[in-house]
Amino acid sequence: MGRPATATINLDALRHNYRIAEQLSGSGRVMAVVKADAYSHGAIACATALADIASGFAVACIEEALELRVSGIKQPILLLEGFFEPRELAMIDQYRLDTVIHHQSQVDALLACPPGHPLRVWLKMDSGMGRVGFAPDDYRKVWSQLHPLPFVKDIVLMSHFACADEPDGEHARQQLTTFNRYAHDLPGERSFCNSAGLIAIKEARGDWNRPGLLLYGVSPFTEAHGIEQKIRPVMELSSALISIKDIPAGSSVGYGSQWIAPKTTRIGIVAMGYADGYPRHAVNGTPVFINGHRVPLVGRVSMDMLTVDLTDVPEVRIGDRAILWGDDLPIVDVAKSADTIPYQLLCNLNRVPVHYSGGSPGMDDLTALADYSSEIPVLFGK
Ligand SMILES: *Cc1c(COP(=O)(O)O)cnc(C)c1O
Repeated sequence: MGRPATATINLDALRHNYRIAEQLSGSGRVMAVVKADAYSHGAIACATALADIASGFAVACIEEALELRVSGIKQPILLLEGFFEPRELAMIDQYRLDTVIHHQSQVDALLACPPGHPLRVWLKMDSGMGRVGFAPDDYRKVWSQLHPLPFVKDIVLMSHFACADEPDGEHARQQLTTFNRYAHDLPGERSFCNSAGLIAIKEARGDWNRPGLLLYGVSPFTEAHGIEQKIRPVMELSSALISIKDIPAGSSVGYGSQWIAPKTTRIGIVAMGYADGYPRHAVNGTPVFINGHRVPLVGRVSMDMLTVDLTDVPEVRIGDRAILWGDDLPIVDVAKSADTIPYQLLCNLNRVPVHYSGGSPGMDDLTALADYSSEIPVLFGK
């Protein structure tokens, strides 16, 4: 069996969460955001598990998109940042990808290399995120430039929230107002919402919504909200106790001797460290779930191991499972203790073997997932 660290991905939970996103979307459709290898859940596995129900998928770059296409995904696949180089356009055309257009240089490239097939573009406005997108004042001009092009099939009007996870929603509403002021009379579908927007900003729900984190069963909000009761965590990160020892008051634990036992303490060592993606900055007291108890992390997280105080857990044994996050321990709690967000914890996952359960009816055993890498076209040669 080897090292006990494992990430278990529950694809039934993923499907459940997709259905929740659909309910929130009302008559709008859900584009499942599976960028960054589906937040480390495995993009091909997750897209395959959603293939019979999802309306589309969104990724960060063409490499991620092609991986999905060659694995058999037929739905629209959207490049959330569009293309980075004009020569990607031939692939976008050949593999029928949707692209965001957020900059004039992309419009110019499209005009210079018109695709052969009808193309759906997602025209992005910077309504207050302050990152990519056309300034509101330029938005209509670009729309008018794209609209008459014979190969432009649809223009989806799109923007992205900066603060949809904030309790008052004030900034998000200002963004929506800006977006509507400049785009209200333009024809075409609308898309504004990430997970937090979809859950919290009802009036922003559009023809297409783009949840990521929500699908993985994690609330985008730092405080209790209610949505976490409805969704189910998809990933469980776990390992096992590989050593247990009693140490006297005054002994130190781990690198830097940064934790000193205040009394006789039973210490457990778990095979999980920052090389696996567990946050090194998790403070003393960060919860770990063992045998039905939340126990506190003590001492610094090292590369391959971490240490917990087992004094209050009766009958622990070497080999007992330790849950780092999952159903029994919300990842949000761990993120707070490490001064970060669940997104980063998920995306940092590394080295641990990933196992799958559930999925769509008739789906093959994903533990033996096919390797499609040889079928992915070599993008640009040398
Ligand atoms: C990543 C991303 C999303 C998904 O965000 P979540 O907060 O995970 O729901 C939606 N839209 C865009 C443009 C993104 O880059």
